[in-house]
Amino acid sequence: MITKKVYLYFPKSETEKPIVCELIRNFDLTINIFRAKVTPEEEGYLSLEITGTEEHLEQAYEFLKGFDVVIHAGSKAVHWDSERCTHCGNCLTHCPTGALHLADQATRTVAFTEEKCIECLSCITNCPFGVCTSAF
Ligand code: SF4
Ligand code: SF4
Repeated sequence: MITKKVYLYFPKSETEKPIVCELIRNFDLTINIFRAKVTPEEEGYLSLEITGTEEHLEQAYEFLKGFDVVIHAGSKAVHWDSERCTHCGNCLTHCPTGALHLADQATRTVAFTEEKCIECLSCITNCPFGVCTSAF
């Protein structure tokens, strides 16, 4: 048995479908939901941990790909958009764990290490460019 943490985004078209129920029933998975949210626009966010055999987990991922569901590895609801980051460095002193850090001192390149993130949400209010977002 293996356990994986994932973060799923469901657009409005998929929120009413019993996708998680099917995952449990069809692939014999144990699912532990950490966080769930449905927005007023009827978009869904789920942060969960999935346990099952490697074969069943692979089948479950294939099953999910049949829907318009966005799958992120990891369970953190904070998302850092590397494409939009200007590397201004403003967030660095506001991130208490070093999840946002300088990856390269010479080029002053900022990077995000998800495992270190404690979801304090400080970067969301302290990024002038809206690079960090959270579903929760
Ligand atoms: S949510 Fe908090 S810990 Fe995570 S990257 Fe932002 S400032 Fe750092
Ligand atoms: S404050 Fe925003 S734009 Fe500036 S380095 Fe941090 S994430 Fe990137």
